[in-house]
Formats: sequence, C-alpha cells, structure tokens
Amino acid sequence: MTGLENTIERILWTEQQISERVSEIASQINDDFNGSSSSMVVVGVATGAFLFLADLVRKFTWPVSVDFIRVGSYGSGTESSGAPRISSDIKIDIKGKHVLVVEDIVDTGNTLTCLISHLASKGASSVSVCSFLDKPARRKVHFELVGEGKFYRGFECPDYFVVGYGMDYAELYRNLPYVGVLKPELYK
Ligand code: 5GP
Ligand code: MG
Ligand code: MG
Repeated sequence: MTGLENTIERILWTEQQISERVSEIASQINDDFNGSSSSMVVVGVATGAFLFLADLVRKFTWPVSVDFIRVGSYGSGTESSGAPRISSDIKIDIKGKHVLVVEDIVDTGNTLTCLISHLASKGASSVSVCSFLDKPARRKVHFELVGEGKFYRGFECPDYFVVGYGMDYAELYRNLPYVGVLKPELYK
C-alpha cells in the first residue's frame, strides 16, 4: 500500500490553514446563534463531514445536539451518479429547532436541496448550512435555506476533485489531515 505522503499531487489547504478557518467559522456561528431561544441540532452529512463537524462543534460556546444523516448519490468515482436519496435518517426530533447541516463540500447542490426539504418537512424552525468547501462553478441547483437559516463555507474550491479532511476517493484518503488533489495515477 502506498504511504499517504506519496498520494497527493498538490495540497490546496494545509492542516494549519484548515484549523484557522474552522475557528473563524465557529466564532461567526457562535455570534449568530448566541442568545437564540431554541436549541440547535447539528446534522452531519456522513461520511465526508465527520472531521469538519468534530473540529467545528468543539469550538461552539453552548451545548448542541449532534446527529448524522446519510445521503447516497455519489458512486465510488468522481462524478455524481444521479439523484440523491436519504439512506439513513436522523434520530433526533428537530421540530421547532434550529438545524445546522454540516457538509464536506457543495458541488451541484443536489444533495443539499434534497436534505433541506427533508429537514424542513420534519418541522425545523430554521435550516442553516455550513459546508467546509464550496465549488460554485459546478452548481446546478440553487438551494433555499429555511427560516432565518444562514450559509457558511470554509473555502471556495476550484473545480478539482479533492480528497482529505473527511473527503474520499473510493472510500480512501478521508484520514488525510489536509485537502489536496490525488496524483492522476491513483484514479482507477
Ligand atoms: P452535490 O450533490 O452538491 O453535487 O455533491 C455533494 C457531495 O458530492 C459532497 O457532499 C461530496 O460528498 C461529493 N463531492 C463533490 N465534490 C467532491 C470532491 O471534489 N471530492 C470528494 N471527495 N467528494 C466530492
Ligand atoms: Mg458530503
Ligand atoms: Mg464520496
């Protein structure tokens, strides 16, 4: 098996840059939701958001609930394989609560559009989205937030297929602490 140090062609964001940016977003969210009367449920989109979510919630200054949702659409390759569908739902009741969806990356916008309408139908009083990366060049659908929901993003991502910090190629490379582009010979 190839060691991690030999897999990346180019690093886009280092561990240090990620950590600084996560702190900035967390303090923005802390400011926005500070003093809010209803509680917040953080809904992580499995699996890609697991590291970002873990880093983010540890910077929040009030107690939140955490749950995960799983959405299928991407196959094992680098292109979306069709319409997203929820393959594993949240367990926490979100009626009347502020929901913060935590994603790894927004690409076409199909996944978020599907998720937001699903969470709205469960009675969330607001749905916000915090995505580590945003690839606006690839957007196909514009998603609408719910209630006073806000959109937060870590970095704008150029149109590359990226891995690391939770994001995979064929279920590998999620454990890289930085984000980069794989060497071309590693794509099968
Ligand atoms: P969307 O529905 O917005 O097209 O795609 C969203 C999902 O596709 C993301 O949550 C992520 O799981 C996956 N995805 C999109 N772009 C990339 C990428 O560059 N790298 C990886 N690893 N996954 C991506
Ligand atoms: Mg995702
Ligand atoms: Mg994936």
